[in-house]
Amino acid sequence: MEEALTVVFGLIVGSFLNVVIHRLPLDESIVFPPSHCPACRAAIPPHDNIPLLSYVMLRGRCRACRAAISPRYPLVEGFTAFSFWLCYDAYGLSPHALAAAVFISLLIALAAIDLKHMILPDELTLGGAAVFFAYSFFNPEVAQLDAVLSGLGAALFFTALFYFYLKVRKLEGLGFGDVKMALLMGLFLGLSRLAIAIFLASFSGLLVGLFFIVFRRKNLKLALPFGPFLALGSYLSLFWGEAILLWISSLWVRP
Ligand SMILES: [Zn+2]
Repeated sequence: MEEALTVVFGLIVGSFLNVVIHRLPLDESIVFPPSHCPACRAAIPPHDNIPLLSYVMLRGRCRACRAAISPRYPLVEGFTAFSFWLCYDAYGLSPHALAAAVFISLLIALAAIDLKHMILPDELTLGGAAVFFAYSFFNPEVAQLDAVLSGLGAALFFTALFYFYLKVRKLEGLGFGDVKMALLMGLFLGLSRLAIAIFLASFSGLLVGLFFIVFRRKNLKLALPFGPFLALGSYLSLFWGEAILLWISSLWVRP
């Protein structure tokens, strides 16, 4: 029962995240006007606005104008629901599970917006950092000093990288959005999980970058948004950080 409710809650939050992802970069209000088709502006009635189900029932098309609905909608809804279930599985029905769910929701919105618009809105990065600074006083997993130092350290580290890229490579490999997102990550993850998150983000970013260079013949100045990789690294590190650390150390230390 608790698991089913968690999944339903995740679907509803995922549906809300879709609104945030669509409207926040356009500077539109999150609450007004109510849901409407971006193609024909027709209002979407509640029975056509049910997470996942409506997309399937409507076969991915607007009822009024038949315009295709982006598969991002069911993907974000389903993935958010799955992630909320992971939070419940890891931390039970607890305040920390809720905090983890908020963190994951921010990661999903940031990754999707950065992929589409190459920006990481301050409302999510700095807003999230404020929330998780407040939460650092209560976080049972990470000591407060650890959280604050990790957040500030991560922001400093990315600021240094930003200037390094700008000076040495003469290109903007990173933006200040990444600096603010790193602050948010450090504040919730703490040092050990943050280190794993940044390692996984850099590693996956490098792999995808190489893939584009080799198979798409893009040059080295190609601009990939780094936010989705930071989100991916944080996500993996939050749920499986300790397992990943154990695995890495088992590769290192041969009996
Ligand atoms: Zn329409």
